[in-house]
Amino acid sequence: MFCQVQHTPDTIKVIRKATEAERKLYRVPLWIQGDDIPECCGSPMFFVGQIDDDRLCAEAPEGAKLWWHDGASFYVFTCSQCLECKAVGQQF
Ligand SMILES: [Zn+2]
Repeated sequence: MFCQVQHTPDTIKVIRKATEAERKLYRVPLWIQGDDIPECCGSPMFFVGQIDDDRLCAEAPEGAKLWWHDGASFYVFTCSQCLECKAVGQQF
């Protein structure tokens, strides 16, 4: 959501749904299942980007027991202390 601070600073009004450009500018993941921010070095990791390509994961590799369906998204995070990277996958 795109929000605007009102006359009193502790009041925020939701104006409209955020655009994709705004989500990228402010680095906000669009979660499918809910917030799932991983931790590293004792702190929440920083969101880097989101992969939503519905063709990316449609074909399971041979012998796969489980696989992501075409409604999956992957969220990439990094740690500002050690540069560890982690991805969180979610699907509908
Ligand atoms: Zn770390």
